[in-house]
Amino acid sequence: MTVRAGREFLAIPGPTTMPDEVLQAMHRPALDIYSHEMVELTESLLADLSRLFATKGHSYIYIANGHGAWEATLSNVLSRGDKVLVLESGRFAVNWGNAAKAMGAEVEVLEGDWRRAIRPADVEARLRQDKSHSIKAVLAVQVDTASSVFNDIEAIGKAIRAAGHPALFMVDTVASLGCMPFEMDAWGIDVAMSGSQKGLMTPPGLGFVAANDRAREVHKTAGLRTPYWDWTERDGSEHYRKYAGTAPVHLLFALRQAINMLFAEGLENAFERHRLLAEAVRRAVAVWSEGQVLGFNIGEPSERANTVTTVTMSDGYDPIALQRYCKEKCGVVLGTGIGELQGQAFRIAHMGHVNAPMILGTLGVIEVALNALDIPHGKGGTEAAIEWLGESVSA
Ligand SMILES: *Cc1c(COP(=O)(O)O)cnc(C)c1O
Repeated sequence: MTVRAGREFLAIPGPTTMPDEVLQAMHRPALDIYSHEMVELTESLLADLSRLFATKGHSYIYIANGHGAWEATLSNVLSRGDKVLVLESGRFAVNWGNAAKAMGAEVEVLEGDWRRAIRPADVEARLRQDKSHSIKAVLAVQVDTASSVFNDIEAIGKAIRAAGHPALFMVDTVASLGCMPFEMDAWGIDVAMSGSQKGLMTPPGLGFVAANDRAREVHKTAGLRTPYWDWTERDGSEHYRKYAGTAPVHLLFALRQAINMLFAEGLENAFERHRLLAEAVRRAVAVWSEGQVLGFNIGEPSERANTVTTVTMSDGYDPIALQRYCKEKCGVVLGTGIGELQGQAFRIAHMGHVNAPMILGTLGVIEVALNALDIPHGKGGTEAAIEWLGESVSA
């Protein structure tokens, strides 16, 4: 017997739930890609992406996932043999660095671990040692979707400036843009990137990059430039070049609708919604943890992301069995533990088009699974989430 008829609910950190309005926005014929309407669509999206990144710099849209957007950032500012410093805090910055290595950069990883955020003081100390300024770029993620850590990008930007180091600061916001505050210019970020399918509620397939003037100056002499990713090609006035070919018209319709919805809600409200729902998840996980089997991967509360929560499982209890129960019996798909946490954790995504019933339903289903599978846990986790929302969302 199952209780899973109806729509399967994705509580995975990408692709996320798409609003019906976003799905419907794509259900129409393509545009003439040389039309005025097409040019206006592109211009409105580029302007709004810059607004989301909070930059006066230039934005670029690629037909690519996040991995493609990583390559876009690297190829536009690096030359073969350039040194890149990767700030480890889980899986994603390291993978971005691996791309840089494969492209011919020299990569150094400033070691962190899977259970805490990047320490800005470590970054400053490492950069101060680099007296010859051989490091050309510093790579960091705002939210690492594997560990669910939240890095204080503003503080890291300050640390880089305090070290007086000229390296470009490049930040991955794939799992945070539109969900948590991000201030590219105010925080001293030179290049930022993101993707369509997480907080931005759009189908997978679009990658976004923003670059400030400093990055675009470095770009002029970068040796790794290739025609598809190249900012200079895309900066021209010819619309066709903005996508290095045919525009991904339907994905752009979807993105237009998603950003409209985000702006209609108000970015600040969206950030607050994410904070409230994330805290509801954390209240539940904290109660379940009293059973000594479940726990937060990120120990320090201020380092927990508002978009995804990685929950560890110990004592030989299998998170895959829990995930299977939630999916096959109840129709809720949880994220799996990846990288170092494979087989030891599951993840609850709470990013993008999420509301109280989605989150409370997900928590309720996890609690059903914990009971059904006899996994020791503190009782009343979902109730704690409900209490939190009742206290915090005023009438
Ligand atoms: C999902 C994700 C990526 C990779 O994006 P893809 O679209 O899967 O290539 C990169 N960075 C972070 C932080 C992510 O969460």
